[in-house]
Amino acid sequence: MDASKTIDGMCESCMMPFKKDPLGADREHEKYCSYCYSDGHLMYEGDDLKEFKRGMIDAIVARGESKTKAKFYAFMAGFAPRWRQKK
Ligand SMILES: [Zn+2]
Repeated sequence: MDASKTIDGMCESCMMPFKKDPLGADREHEKYCSYCYSDGHLMYEGDDLKEFKRGMIDAIVARGESKTKAKFYAFMAGFAPRWRQKK
C-alpha cells in the first residue's frame, strides 16, 4: 500500500471525506476520491463547476442516495480546493 495515501482529509475535487471512500487508502489518487479519479484520470476533466456538480448529482443518485442529499454534496463540492480559483 502507498504510504502517502491515508484516509485522513478529504477529496480535493468533491470534498468527500476519504473515510467514506469505498476504496479508502487503496484509491488511485492521493488527493482525489475513487469517484472523482479512476483508471488513471479524473472522471470529470473539465473546469466547469456547474457541469461537475450535475454529473456528481447524477452519480450519487445512481448510487441510491436521495436527490436532496446529492444536491447537498454537490453544494459542498463547490468549496473544494479544485474549484477555489473558479467562479
Ligand atoms: Zn471526490
